[in-house]
Amino acid sequence: MTADMPQDDLILRNARLIDGSGAPSIEGDLAIRDGRITAIGQIGERRAAREIDLRGRALAPGFIDVHTHDDGALLQADGMVPKISQGVTTVIAGNCGISIAPLSIEGTPPPPFTLVGGPGSFRFARFADYVAALEGAGIATNAALLCGHTTLRQSVLADTRLPATPAETEAMAVLLDVAMAEGAFGLSSGLDYPPAVGSSTDEVIALARIAAARGGPYVTHTRNYFETMDEALEEAIDIAGAAGGRLVISHHQCTGAMNHGKAVPSLARIDRAREEIEIGMDVYPYAASSTVLRLERCDTGLRILVTWSDPHPEMARRELADIAREWGVSEREAGIRLLPAGAVYFQLDEGDVQAILRHPRTMIGSDGLPHDVHPHPRLWGTFPRVLGHYARDLGLMPLEEAVRRMTGLPAEEFGMTDRGLLRVGHAADLVVFDPATVIDLATFEDPDTPARGIEEVFVNGTLVWTGGAATAARPGRVLRPEAPDGSRQRLS
Ligand code: ZN
Repeated sequence: MTADMPQDDLILRNARLIDGSGAPSIEGDLAIRDGRITAIGQIGERRAAREIDLRGRALAPGFIDVHTHDDGALLQADGMVPKISQGVTTVIAGNCGISIAPLSIEGTPPPPFTLVGGPGSFRFARFADYVAALEGAGIATNAALLCGHTTLRQSVLADTRLPATPAETEAMAVLLDVAMAEGAFGLSSGLDYPPAVGSSTDEVIALARIAAARGGPYVTHTRNYFETMDEALEEAIDIAGAAGGRLVISHHQCTGAMNHGKAVPSLARIDRAREEIEIGMDVYPYAASSTVLRLERCDTGLRILVTWSDPHPEMARRELADIAREWGVSEREAGIRLLPAGAVYFQLDEGDVQAILRHPRTMIGSDGLPHDVHPHPRLWGTFPRVLGHYARDLGLMPLEEAVRRMTGLPAEEFGMTDRGLLRVGHAADLVVFDPATVIDLATFEDPDTPARGIEEVFVNGTLVWTGGAATAARPGRVLRPEAPDGSRQRLS
């Protein structure tokens, strides 16, 4: 190389470097080449083919959305725009027990599979087929994939209302083991959704053991966040303890008025259990939840917003109480007519949301539902809302700590050793944002609204978001888990 040849592809100058570890930010530059970070800090006379002066704006590792239902969205042309517009560069898909693979469903999928996609979405009988489809089409963000317990039940069980028989449990274990060999990061469950409500704790332990043996976590939407939330948390802790692996509690929350105020005791219980097992958790920064429309929540006085309905698409974005009044029926009867459908439930307590956000092990996960006609605003707003509303405006935590919850911490929890931090040699997943103006603009009325203040987003060194718009680039990778000994495990 001659002296005046650029040694880097790109140098970002004069940045406020927030490195993802929670350490105080520093002023400096960052250089990248071939999709990796090559220098950070005071980098002197290095030269690059292109340089950008960030004039003091923040430069952080790209955000890792640990809780997504992007299995189908990853395959769609603009499916990941809600995420890259927030600075997300890696998503963990296959949550809540519902992975798109390994499963074939003819016709319209039953709930809760509708959270991920409609007819034709579930067409990957083998986990490797889905991975190949992602790699063949190219993806805008990186993706780490979980294998879902509910998906395995739907694939294997003769009757999903019942616990798995020993033979069915064994068949699910084989499918999971193959999926993990083919790239799954761990096992997810959604034990309060119909195809999994009938599952036994023992069958979940058997599967969580398979995940643990390959170094993967058990990631759970627990048995219940409502009437029996305490017992459900105990079951999750028992399962991970018996399996001998790590536990991640999905969208930790205290649902319904009878549980308001329980965040602090539930976090204390998790901290106690953390003396025995490794436990992480995620949260979305809103006091309203969203999933499929559930009849048992109708007529309880709860405010419910309809997000989609197959037989009545015109009722999306309207409140269930108004629809019921207009039709002259109960909410439950209106709900029956709307199914299959989705809904937002205004049933969480803001104090609980903030207590969970403050916990040092809480990661940020959007739980966004990209398939919804009128989605919960968390799909487009989660990460800027934590940075702007909760960290800057309410002062819940320093900006550096907020960034850690969406970068370094999730990379550590999910074993991604070359992402989540600004380090030489790490993948150049990067976000440039303005700490003074970053904020979510998506609302319950207008949910499909990109955030403000996210200026540039790079995935593996390639620009995917700039000037308020997505580029057409698809530089994302399907990430592979690393085995406990650091090498990739193979099928035995
Ligand atoms: Zn869930």
